[in-house]
Amino acid sequence: AQHLSQALQRIEASPTTAMTDRASELRAEGRDIISLSVGEPDFDTPPHVIEAAKDALDAGDTRYTPVTGTARLKEAAALHFRRDLGIAAEARDVIVTAGGKQAIFEALAATVSPGDEVIVPSPWWVSYPQMVRFSGGTVVPLRTSAGNGFRFRPSELEALITPRTNWLLLNSPGNPTGAVFPNDMLRGIGDVLRRHPQVLVLSDDIYAPLRYSDEPHATLAALCPDLSDRIITISGVSKSHAMTGFRIGVATGPDWLISAMGKLQSNSSGNPASISQAAAVAAFEGPQDFLGRWRDAFRRRRDMVVARINAIPGLSTPVPDGAFYCLVDAAPLMERFGGDDGKLAMHLLENGVATVAASAFGGKDGFRISFAADEAVLDTALDRIEKALS
Ligand code: PLP
Repeated sequence: AQHLSQALQRIEASPTTAMTDRASELRAEGRDIISLSVGEPDFDTPPHVIEAAKDALDAGDTRYTPVTGTARLKEAAALHFRRDLGIAAEARDVIVTAGGKQAIFEALAATVSPGDEVIVPSPWWVSYPQMVRFSGGTVVPLRTSAGNGFRFRPSELEALITPRTNWLLLNSPGNPTGAVFPNDMLRGIGDVLRRHPQVLVLSDDIYAPLRYSDEPHATLAALCPDLSDRIITISGVSKSHAMTGFRIGVATGPDWLISAMGKLQSNSSGNPASISQAAAVAAFEGPQDFLGRWRDAFRRRRDMVVARINAIPGLSTPVPDGAFYCLVDAAPLMERFGGDDGKLAMHLLENGVATVAASAFGGKDGFRISFAADEAVLDTALDRIEKALS
């Protein structure tokens, strides 16, 4: 007999994963599929990180570590929060998790109760609403659109806040939009939050190092330090250091929340992998110069992809300022797909390109492509998309 919990029945498997699985199936049948659906850099993990992982193995670093991470990695992560995000973090304020995903899950699971309202700007990263629902919370979408660069006005946020609101989720640079929140917008959000002390903020800065404009990264906890006792900032090495498989995320926030997350972790996954933690120390403390080269490559690809998309009749996209995604609007073509962008994405897959429908992210009438692929590959993919939609 099957006995699914009420919590599990409230959620669905990640739709990005579903698309990636379908693409693998077609490939296994011998079809030539270009996958632009996954959220990971195509670059190799930097060699100094690989060396650190090997050294850890050779040194017998193969046992349990403290549940919330080694002292060494917490120091390195605190350095990262100070140096790269401008947050005055110390090692004791940090928790190390199995990827940024676990940190977000734990923060929400530790605090959201049935009836709580969580404001999530849409289009959103696929897992946010699922995690909120798993804990019994209600997702309150804060709709944004390409027209305003996928940003919202502080007044639009304030209009959604009720006495039951307990979280606002922020993600900049954002997945799936690549939108970056400027300083003045974040300061405006800070002003709203000062009037609503019941609201906690989760700032997911996992893409912070991957930005294509010259301004330094802005994050709420750095801009509004007076609010830092209710902000948790999520970061990691998955996207910035091409270490998705290592499964290391880091978070910093108020004591009570970090220890609540640790309590959950101590009774579920336990410590993050010892070898991965050693590798993450090298990622945070080692040379960061490769990042400049990666950024340049991503910027070139972005420019190429945006130009080609906007030249295809019926498709349009704003220029993403960060991360490695474009959210493409296909509204003028939707009639052909019965208004269902899932059908549009399947049509593109049948024509050799795996993307993810915008509706998977709480958006509509379009699809997300990841430009974390070689320029020649992107060019071929765009040829196929153009042909499939002509
Ligand atoms: N947050 C966002 C916005 C993401 O896009 C992702 C990965 O896709 C994550 C968090 C999770 O990253 P990790 O692989 O470190 O768990």
